[in-house]
Amino acid sequence: MFWYFDPLYLLFAVPGLLLGIWAQIKLSHAYGKYSQVPVDSGMTGAEAARQVLDSAGLVNVPVEEIPGHLSDHYDPTKRALFLSSDNFHGQTVAAVGVAAHEAGHALQHQASYALFDFRMAIVPATQFASMAYMGIFFVGIFFQALFAKFILIAIALFSITTLFQLVTLPVEYDASRRAKEQLFRLGLVHEHERAGVSKVLDAAALTYVAALVSSVLQLLYLLTMARGRR
Ligand SMILES: [Zn+2]
Repeated sequence: MFWYFDPLYLLFAVPGLLLGIWAQIKLSHAYGKYSQVPVDSGMTGAEAARQVLDSAGLVNVPVEEIPGHLSDHYDPTKRALFLSSDNFHGQTVAAVGVAAHEAGHALQHQASYALFDFRMAIVPATQFASMAYMGIFFVGIFFQALFAKFILIAIALFSITTLFQLVTLPVEYDASRRAKEQLFRLGLVHEHERAGVSKVLDAAALTYVAALVSSVLQLLYLLTMARGRR
């Protein structure tokens, strides 16, 4: 039997999978709801992000529109902010919230926030680890005995991926915290809009929690396998 058909694997994989689905549902519910709620300030996401960046002196960080749904991100190598069309043009609580969150990452970069820098530093290692892990994973599908030989390497590689996801969590929560602080300080979001911004950003953060739980469980499964083979 192939290792991945191990019923024990399902025991470790299913909770993470369900949590991931639940987080996605919660996010699409919160985002769907608050992307229908217009902001009092009438700002678009792009304008709000621009104001947050400018007020921090980050006038050289461009805010650009990109295709895709919730494809919003800050690119530290380009020092540029990319917003999905919905959030770039949207004059809603959700659009302004997401846009400010991405600007929050630019603020972390500017402040040399330690966890942000650390996360950025381990990106190449994480990319290598996840590719190498996939390689071992596919070898394991066809040659189960070989996978057993590589189990310790697989654990080491997967630990790097898990560490990356672990560091991502505080970075994401901190970006949202900075975003909310600036949105209220600059008056881009009013008191009664606070809860909506928080709900959207908390729901987005939950997807990272789900990804981490899923990875930790997968890592535990690999460790259980390694023990079993000793
Ligand atoms: Zn983020």
